[in-house]
Amino acid sequence: MDEMRYQIDLLTALNENLTVNEKIYRLIFDNSFSAYLYYDFVNKQLRTLGNWKAFFSFDVKNIKDLEQIYDTIKEEEKLKVRELFNLEKTNLDNKCQDFFLIDKGIWVECETSIYQNEKKEAAQKLIRLKNITRYKLQNDELAYMAYYDSLTGLYNRNYFVRILSEWIRKAEKENAIVSVIFIDIDDFRKINDGLGILVGDELVQLFGQYLEHFKTDNVILSHFNSDIYCMAIYEPTANKCADSVFRELQKRLEKPFSLTGQIDLSITVCLGVAEFPEAGNNAMELINYAEIVMFKAKANGKNGIQYFDEPILKEFLYTVKIEHKLKDALLKNNFFLNYQPQFDTKNKKLRGVEALIRWKDQDDSFISPSVFIPIAEKNGTIIPIGSWVIEEGLKTYCSWRKKYNYPLILSLNISALQFRKSEFVNKLLTMTKLYDVEPCFVELEITESVLIDDFDDIVFKMRALREYGFRVSLDDFGTGFSSLSYLKDLPIDTLKIDKTFIDTLSIDESSRIITESIISMVKKLGFETVAEGVEKIEQYEYLKEIQCDCIQGYLLGKPMSAGDIEKIIIDNM
Ligand code: C2E
Ligand code: CA
Ligand code: CA
Repeated sequence: MDEMRYQIDLLTALNENLTVNEKIYRLIFDNSFSAYLYYDFVNKQLRTLGNWKAFFSFDVKNIKDLEQIYDTIKEEEKLKVRELFNLEKTNLDNKCQDFFLIDKGIWVECETSIYQNEKKEAAQKLIRLKNITRYKLQNDELAYMAYYDSLTGLYNRNYFVRILSEWIRKAEKENAIVSVIFIDIDDFRKINDGLGILVGDELVQLFGQYLEHFKTDNVILSHFNSDIYCMAIYEPTANKCADSVFRELQKRLEKPFSLTGQIDLSITVCLGVAEFPEAGNNAMELINYAEIVMFKAKANGKNGIQYFDEPILKEFLYTVKIEHKLKDALLKNNFFLNYQPQFDTKNKKLRGVEALIRWKDQDDSFISPSVFIPIAEKNGTIIPIGSWVIEEGLKTYCSWRKKYNYPLILSLNISALQFRKSEFVNKLLTMTKLYDVEPCFVELEITESVLIDDFDDIVFKMRALREYGFRVSLDDFGTGFSSLSYLKDLPIDTLKIDKTFIDTLSIDESSRIITESIISMVKKLGFETVAEGVEKIEQYEYLKEIQCDCIQGYLLGKPMSAGDIEKIIIDNM
């Protein structure tokens, strides 16, 4: 009897234990993100477990009910899913995994396993459904990001390079041509800075969408970044080539782009073209060259197309070399100054000197300032170079002054970038104090390019400088837009008439008339006139006759060392 009781207690305890376990398993199943379909091959019993409701709004109790599952799946995926849910096949290696989309917008990963009994027969099948929507979408986005640019929907740079590389390999075999066209919107920075980056982005997007229409099996397109796009054409033809693209673009760009907020934007673009095999034989090289020649189109006045050309590339590489060297030329003390004398036209008395920078390279060759100053202006090195010129010039001036006390004017060339710097005036004042030079002996030569942006601000600065006593001179008059009408608004002391103007004097009567009228008008405005690049005695005689105040040029003195200037000072004392 006791034995019986013991057995019953044991069974109850086991049962209770089983119920607890069952409860735990249920809890886990019901709260999991997965759902399960369990099938018993022997008893033909079908059961759903876990979070089934998260996937389907119906229950599945027998094989017929499976049809409802197939109804939620796209036609082309049905076969695959039927195979996964197949409850007739009992082969033991039937362990499958795949994924599909159901009509709730859920991506389902499905895994099936068949279990065997002691007799090694298929006994049960378990189908697990897992919601992988989040991973799938993330994955799709990553895949998209790997190939496309999110702003324009065009290929991104990496993918473009990949396809272009494939095309080049193919073209090598097929003896074909591949055109690479670099496309850049003109003055995009002005749009971005002036109207804001949102407007800039919208324009980039709209233009990118427009470019998309060029796309064919033989044309690929990419948005690299900012306002830069690149196109490649496999085996261009007369109807589909860089030229035809440019023509078509120009036609489209006659009309503005309509942006939100009723902004109508008209743009122009520059194209640079490099072709395989002529220009290069790999994708990066071709893109690089197309970009380089595109800059040439920009320099030639924008709204243009430029094909790859060896001299342009050479010029570019030379510029890059100079740019690189410029950086340490100052540190290595490779610059020095020459001074070119200026004389009073009437009595040939020394009026002043213009400081002109010289660069002697490591190999003792000279690099002309006409070459490196524009490069230094572009990359900003003109700022330290310009400061060095001011200090060096003032230092030399100070020593002349101490030795000879001759009232000489020191003319310093000041670049636009340098002049525009907010600290320019203060730095100049500090330097003149340091070397004890009176501002009335310092003349700052600026060109019209300084006036292009912020005319009012620049004029304000010129006035301030003149109030401190500095002289201001307008250099290269006759080369820029040289309008006499704005001269009257300029607070300047001196006008330097450019050499190109002087050169034409002896040739034609009309330029004489113009020079005469300029000089007489400028004199009326109270400015001093200095004629530059006077090489011939006739030019000098003529300039004297029309009462040009001062003369600078090879005729009376080339740029020379500080020591040689001292000799001239002594002669003039
Ligand atoms: P620029 O200011 O117009 O200087 C006059 C240029 O004409 C100088 O060339 C000078 O050597 C040259 N020149 C003077 N008289 C004659 C002549 O009778 N015949 C000929 N054929 N040429 C003459 P350089 O020294 O080669 O300077 C070229 C340009 O480089 C300068 O033109 C100026 O724009 C720039 N530059 C020179 N030094 C400096 C500097 O220290 N700072 C800045 N920002 N620019 C400078
Ligand atoms: Ca000058
Ligand atoms: Ca000049």
